[in-house]
Amino acid sequence: ELAKRGSVHGSLVVSKSQTAGKGRLGRSFASMSDDGLYFSVMLRPEVSPEHLAGLTLVAALAASKAIQNICGITPSIKWPNDIYVNNKKVVGILTEAGTDYVVIGIGINVNTKSFDKSIEATATSIYLETGTNVAKEELLMEILSQLNDLYDTFVASKDLSFLVKDYNQGLGSLNKEVFIIPQQLTLTSHNPSLIDTSALEAVLCLGIDKDGNLVCKDSKEELHYVNSGEVSLRTK
Ligand code: ATP
Repeated sequence: ELAKRGSVHGSLVVSKSQTAGKGRLGRSFASMSDDGLYFSVMLRPEVSPEHLAGLTLVAALAASKAIQNICGITPSIKWPNDIYVNNKKVVGILTEAGTDYVVIGIGINVNTKSFDKSIEATATSIYLETGTNVAKEELLMEILSQLNDLYDTFVASKDLSFLVKDYNQGLGSLNKEVFIIPQQLTLTSHNPSLIDTSALEAVLCLGIDKDGNLVCKDSKEELHYVNSGEVSLRTK
């Protein structure tokens, strides 16, 4: 709403808790607990629309680096936009574009002690992984600082070549077999992490390219360039 009303590039809204946090495709993001960090950054990007999808990957790398610096754990990025620790989701990122703005929404389970039954098998928090409470403001400032640097480089270079190496280093599925799940399947599931993948063929994940596509190789050695808008990823 602020973006539509003309708020300036770089505006930040931080929420203590959320009653209607959302994920992709109408899914929800549990954020009622005030132990988490939930914020949105509004940008008026100086990049052309076909490059906007890259912002999600920029945000994921910024959050991942910040968690590493502040919390002393090395999380893994789940392409394109989520962050996991020990195979459980700790950060959700949602990028939404309007006509002349982009809102990057980031939700982090920071000091969260427990989760609802529906996600307790697939969600975790920084506290649950480290046993330490983290100052949310400190983590927020570090993410914004990382985001600022990466965003400026992204705008200057117009593609993601500058972060491919770093991003792939943090990619949990790098050189592993993955399932590329078509949207028809994820649309009908409340928790896509629990989808039955037995009917799908696994492909080898080779990392992202400079446009943010996930490059995968199938059993016939053929390369596929997967676009994030269309699919969900699961590690075999
Ligand atoms: P995709 O791979 O398509 O992004 P996803 O499971 O990550 O799939 P999202 O739309 O990104 O889906 O995020 C919403 C999902 O995240 C919910 O359906 C739920 O499974 C899970 N979830 C919701 N709240 C939380 C939370 N606080 N922490 C961790 N996971 C959560």
